[in-house]
Amino acid sequence: MSEATAAPAPRGEQIAPRIWVFSSPGFRVNTGLVVGDERALLIDTGSGPRQAAALLAAVREVTDLPLTVVNTHAHFDHFFGNAFFAAEGTAEDFWATAAAAAAMGEHGEEQRTHVADAEPEMAADAGPHTAIRVPNRLVEDAPVDLDLGGITATLFHLGRGHTGHDLLIGAGEVLFTGDLVEEGADPAFEDSFPKEWIRTLGKMVALEDLYTVFVPGHGDPVELDFVTTQMNKMRTAVTVTRSAMDQASTDVTKAVPILPYGPVQSRALLNRLRTLAQWKWLRT
Ligand SMILES: [Zn+2]
Repeated sequence: MSEATAAPAPRGEQIAPRIWVFSSPGFRVNTGLVVGDERALLIDTGSGPRQAAALLAAVREVTDLPLTVVNTHAHFDHFFGNAFFAAEGTAEDFWATAAAAAAMGEHGEEQRTHVADAEPEMAADAGPHTAIRVPNRLVEDAPVDLDLGGITATLFHLGRGHTGHDLLIGAGEVLFTGDLVEEGADPAFEDSFPKEWIRTLGKMVALEDLYTVFVPGHGDPVELDFVTTQMNKMRTAVTVTRSAMDQASTDVTKAVPILPYGPVQSRALLNRLRTLAQWKWLRT
């Protein structure tokens, strides 16, 4: 069988000593690269084998070292390239939180529909490197330090937010945030825990002595102010939505135009808060 066609090359940029970011076209997902003396760490693998092939080509312009992979969370655009990196023999260890690995196993297959245009082989589950590859190295409660030689990457979970299992990766002065931070688009609330997300962003902001550059899951790297602004905006949005929900006589969708997000993510936030409130009600 022939190799899958490569996607257009990602845009690569060195943002700190030993640290690169590659922005893939399409979903603008960021892939991080931390280059040690002995191995390199690849953060998120793209939407399928096409994007992964383009990423590997870009990575090999920087380093020939063996790769360790880490997935920030279980959304398709961050881990569907795993099988390509595993099959190429370039990576053996794939890290994620235990909950993210479980979610990939449980909900990976159903996410194939999202990549029909950009990764038709992945969408059809047909062709090389299209398996759902679930991480084999798990971050539980304690942070994990990966010594890459000359630089250490720290993998840690600060609490639920964009999903129930978001992993952060710190290296040097750079923090890779996954989709806990979103630049150039609204935060995505579909699988989120909005109230906890605000708290998690607060904990991230408290790391200001350690990190000066924050690499979002999508879009350009940002500074601390951006994270603080995203947190405050989310707090306002959650407060407005919840007060609309509390006024039983009000049609809650009336809150949508006054939320600080576009209509799609305002609705997603509203739906998510409603679902979480129902879960709570069902449990009590
Ligand atoms: Zn996501």
